Amino acid sequence: MKANIKELPALTVMAADLGVQAIRVIYMMAHNEELAKQSLYFCQEQSDAYMAKAVAMGEKVGVEVKVPGLFRDTDETAQGEPQSSCAGPGHFLGVEHNGDAKICCGGAPPFGNLNTMSFREFWSNKKLRNLRRVINTPDQPTYCKNCYHGGHNLKRRGKHIPREADYRAAAAALGVAGPVEESAHATAIGPKVLRLERCAPERRTAKSGKDQGSNLTLSTSS
Ligand code: SF4
Repeated sequence: MKANIKELPALTVMAADLGVQAIRVIYMMAHNEELAKQSLYFCQEQSDAYMAKAVAMGEKVGVEVKVPGLFRDTDETAQGEPQSSCAGPGHFLGVEHNGDAKICCGGAPPFGNLNTMSFREFWSNKKLRNLRRVINTPDQPTYCKNCYHGGHNLKRRGKHIPREADYRAAAAALGVAGPVEESAHATAIGPKVLRLERCAPERRTAKSGKDQGSNLTLSTSS
């Protein structure tokens, strides 16, 4: 997300210090307008640059940094048939600190809490069984439709933000993304309404390599 993308290269260094072997980076799933303002969709160049820096830093310090597809490799308007499917609800379990049990690291909500139910109860509960039935169909829930992990065209930018057309229009009006067909949309739902902001350009001092915007120092410990 916009608030912390600058920290990714330094996180890689921290991971090396802690003996972590690999980091997997995913885009934040924006489920509402507030979160959408934090979407890297509106900071595409900066996002790509920091992810590339993190990968390079990882190679330097011995941490494998797995990043999602970069914006520059995606298409603004790609639509069409699903290019992948999601198997998360059938083979993944994530347990959070409070016992909430999740079936993916995408946008699906917890489907139970392992402090209050057995694993068997969780894994076979009705909501989860229903999700498995519709996950890769047009009836998939909205959080899956807005998820770039599965379901639809992974190459489409903005996959992980809600009301994508609205945000694309707003982004185009801000000049942070390419033109969109829905020009009427751009007028009706412009940046003034959504109060979107451009990303501040990356500011660095030539000698120190210090990022002044976030007080982040890019250096290795070795
Ligand atoms: S499509 Fe995304 S949100 Fe839906 S279950 Fe799969 S990973 Fe989770």
